[in-house]
Amino acid sequence: MLPVVALVGRPNVGKSTLFNRLTRTRDALVADFPGLTRDRKYGQANYDGYHFIVIDTGGLQGDEEGLDLRMAEQSLQAIDEADVVLFLVDAREGVTASDQSIAEHLRRQEKSVWVAANKVDGLDADSAAADFYQLGLGEVYHIAAAHGRGINQLLQRTLQPLAIEYPDVLKVDEELPEDDEGLVRQAEFYADQPIKLAIVGRPNVGKSTLTNRLLGEDRVVVFDMPGTTRDSIYIDMERDDQKYTIIDTAGVRKRGKIDLAVEKFSVIKTLQAIEDANVVMLVIDAHDNIGDQDLSLLGFALNAGRSIVIAVNKWDGMDPDAKEWLKVELDRRLGFVDFARMHFISALHGTNVGHLFGSVKEAYHSATQRISTSQLTRIMEMAEEEHQPPLVRGRRVKLKYAHAGGYNPPLIVIHGNQVKSLPNTYKRYLMNYFRRALKVMGTPIKIEFREGE
Ligand code: GDP
Ligand code: GDP
Repeated sequence: MLPVVALVGRPNVGKSTLFNRLTRTRDALVADFPGLTRDRKYGQANYDGYHFIVIDTGGLQGDEEGLDLRMAEQSLQAIDEADVVLFLVDAREGVTASDQSIAEHLRRQEKSVWVAANKVDGLDADSAAADFYQLGLGEVYHIAAAHGRGINQLLQRTLQPLAIEYPDVLKVDEELPEDDEGLVRQAEFYADQPIKLAIVGRPNVGKSTLTNRLLGEDRVVVFDMPGTTRDSIYIDMERDDQKYTIIDTAGVRKRGKIDLAVEKFSVIKTLQAIEDANVVMLVIDAHDNIGDQDLSLLGFALNAGRSIVIAVNKWDGMDPDAKEWLKVELDRRLGFVDFARMHFISALHGTNVGHLFGSVKEAYHSATQRISTSQLTRIMEMAEEEHQPPLVRGRRVKLKYAHAGGYNPPLIVIHGNQVKSLPNTYKRYLMNYFRRALKVMGTPIKIEFREGE
């Protein structure tokens, strides 16, 4: 589990600037997902050795009405579920009425709130920040999100205290096992584990119906686990000699309970489940359009390097035209995860549900199978032969060799001259080439380029 940090503040104080800085990933190329990044509000932060989930709560004005109110609801729930709230204010503008009313709201929550006065670049930071003590939320930190100033200190103060509850917050990035032995050990480890499968999707798409199906009809599900809205339920099962741990974000305990307290859909619960899973099964309702929320869940899973299987549910009772239309739409909008298997199912009737396991196994296997240096280098050379790398500053980029850098997801490290300057189109070409040659299904692939030997 990772701690959750919510960025709160009125528009224009620099929340998305900070969000982008915190979530900028290392330079391994994963995949492009067009249209997602602009309005993505949830991200994995990996900054200066700190790991956490960060939410840009957006849209808080302090005086929500109507549509704004609905948008603000998820923001408010996010604040509610977050471990830490970073309240951003604009050091150039001083305290505004909106700041005051947001502060009032935050003071009422029993939350760990930290005030960060942003945009202190070019200002006398201390005096610019002084104004904000009147918000009554204690210490005021000053940062310049656009320039990366002050962020380390802020994170240190806010996140250090969480390290006991969330050891992963300070997780040292795993050293890539350079030697073959380390890689073999890693692959063996994965082969031995139950597959952690998270069932995720928007409310009412059929997650609990599907989870019950996957667990089997005859299984008596008696769960009444204590926990907060943030906790998923973990259920072990076995099928065809493969062990699975189902991470149930919907709460199968829903079934059979007399007071059907509808579970509140929690994005954070879903994100934690994705973080913890090997394979993410995204359930989509065939009767609904693919929504931004579906896309951002996929984007999040991709970023986290998780394998993906897509289940288009409620396929029963669809007329043929609607089916055709939806298939075209799915192709168009989900092209960026075309490596993921898609199944058209009816969780209610059990149609095609059995096939899901095959794709989950395949995805997990693809993500964790051992790939040798000679195999990777051969594929790289074939790709290079078919399509030469371009000239960069008058010199041809030279690829030397490729080796595996890790699994789950597969990381391919390519060494060569000027490889970092390769245009993205060529990097993407290589990625697709590797994917086809290795017959890798269901998992993203990462490629990292290293100069020289
Ligand atoms: P949001 O609406 O809270 O997400 O704010 P944005 O991140 O979109 O930032 C609003 C404006 O403030 C943009 O023009 C940013 O370039 C600018 N900005 C953000 N951080 C800084 C900073 O540290 N210093 C300065 N001078 N401008 C900043
Ligand atoms: P969750 O909120 O994602 O867990 O969704 P539920 O499993 O509670 O299902 C929401 C509603 O969709 C319920 O009324 C289900 O009976 C219905 N439903 C689930 N799967 C199917 C399906 O395959 N076909 C049809 N027609 N309805 C379904």
